[in-house]
Amino acid sequence: MEPITDNYNRKLRDLRVSVTDRCNYRCPYCMPLEVYGEKYEFLKRNEVLSFEEIERLVRLFVKLGVKKVRITGGEPLVRKDLESLISRINSIDSDLDIALTTNGYLLAEKVQKLKDAGLSRLTVSLDSLDEITYKKMNGKGFGPDKVLNGIKRAEQIGFSPIKINVVVQKGYNDKNFLDVANHFRSSKNIVRFIEFMDVGNKNGWALNKVVPAKEILEVIDKKFPLESVSPTYEGEVAKKYRYKDGAGEIGIISSVSQPFCGDCTRARLSTDGKLITCLFATQGVDLKTPIRSGSDDDELISIIRSTWGQRTDRYSELRSQNTDLDQLNKPKVEMYYIGG
Ligand code: SAM
Ligand code: SF4
Ligand code: SF4
Repeated sequence: MEPITDNYNRKLRDLRVSVTDRCNYRCPYCMPLEVYGEKYEFLKRNEVLSFEEIERLVRLFVKLGVKKVRITGGEPLVRKDLESLISRINSIDSDLDIALTTNGYLLAEKVQKLKDAGLSRLTVSLDSLDEITYKKMNGKGFGPDKVLNGIKRAEQIGFSPIKINVVVQKGYNDKNFLDVANHFRSSKNIVRFIEFMDVGNKNGWALNKVVPAKEILEVIDKKFPLESVSPTYEGEVAKKYRYKDGAGEIGIISSVSQPFCGDCTRARLSTDGKLITCLFATQGVDLKTPIRSGSDDDELISIIRSTWGQRTDRYSELRSQNTDLDQLNKPKVEMYYIGG
């Protein structure tokens, strides 16, 4: 089948699937506790796509050119039997690259099953190694030990390199993110520092809470001198650097200060089956209703094709140029619902 391209000639290559809107953490930059408290109403069970429905949609996306599927959330490991979804996706095409982004809290106990089911790559979020900072940054008072254990277990069974995501937020970990870089130097794992982004509408984002990529880089470079590395593939979101002393690589994701919309080949499937063509979108296109009302594969493909064909998203670029304030001020979908 012909691969599809959007209005700016960007192919559809990656699909991020959010398998749950729930999470065992309350990171202030994503699901702040004061908003996502006990009374918060998450999606009901029947609103969430089943594994059968996700598998069917992924199969269609693969027909349209998707090569990489990332499972995310919310916290994907809180969804029961996630390995059976991985196994279903793996059966679509054994060359498919299947990745998972997790906070790592439940990783140690689940990683073997995930590997056996066909998971290819792993990203673990770990914002700090400092006990107090980490507790504050997950909003639940958990220390980092379980996550470090999960990473160790994953390494032992052959995940390599594991990517470690660190969101840098002023007032939280801006004084000690270097610890994470230091900890993973000389391991095969790649730490990626991420600018605090204005995703959603509920995380209290403000420009003065962002530590710009340039500053992050300066702090690391001062302690451990770095040199830049050219990107390995088109659409790579992290800018890569390596330690001059040979202790490995890091990445910087600077969607705020240096946007990368021109290469953006990512679509997102929300927990309740909406096709979302930008991390900062206002809404998505419903695929769940057609699936549940008996649409055949051709009808679903035609919805996906026309949605991607009409895509004009380049939110981060507009934000940096401040050119389209109406667009920037529209409400946006929340991160935990589309999975970053
Ligand atoms: N719960 C999993 C986790 O935390 O890894 C997967 C979902 S989480 C939404 C995916 C990634 O988005 C995580 O690495 C998280 O740190 C990042 N993230 C969430 N909110 C963010 C924000 N406001 N700015 C930058 N990154 C953010
Ligand atoms: Fe949960 Fe991940 Fe969001 Fe933190 S970033 S609240 S772990 S979904
Ligand atoms: Fe892609 Fe939207 Fe992010 Fe630009 S702002 S890189 S279009 S997700």
